[in-house]
Amino acid sequence: MDKKYGVYICTGCGIGDTLDMEALVDVPDEEGVNCTTHPFLCSKEGVN
Ligand code: SF4
Repeated sequence: MDKKYGVYICTGCGIGDTLDMEALVDVPDEEGVNCTTHPFLCSKEGVN
């Protein structure tokens, strides 16, 4: 079974206001790994 990698970055709790999210998302993207951000990753919607 092929492994599938992905990166999820939460922008909640002020993280998105503090860090350069565009630059952060570019790191895995440049390695060909899908990167997704979410404003509230620990919420039910975020977990889904
Ligand atoms: S996962 Fe939840 S607790 Fe963690 S930074 Fe995001 S919103 Fe905050």
